[in-house]
Amino acid sequence: MICYNCKSENKEKAKVCKKCGADLTYIPWRPGIKWHIKVLGVIYAVVVIAFFTARVFLDKYDRNLPTWESEYPMYDMTKGSATK
Ligand SMILES: [Zn+2]
Repeated sequence: MICYNCKSENKEKAKVCKKCGADLTYIPWRPGIKWHIKVLGVIYAVVVIAFFTARVFLDKYDRNLPTWESEYPMYDMTKGSATK
């Protein structure tokens, strides 16, 4: 096996590294690319779901903000003319 500390080759059953003396029974866990994709996918899915859920709930508190048309009815663009 390869020492996680100094990357030197050791016997498969070695408990300590012959070169640096690191404990080879300890296997450090390092996240791989699949782990990153999975975790980031879950986080992104949660964010997207939370966004749409929040939109549904916040629709109840729609403050009916003024639109351009309601503020300036004299320039009603839907009728195709600025004058009456
Ligand atoms: Zn080592």
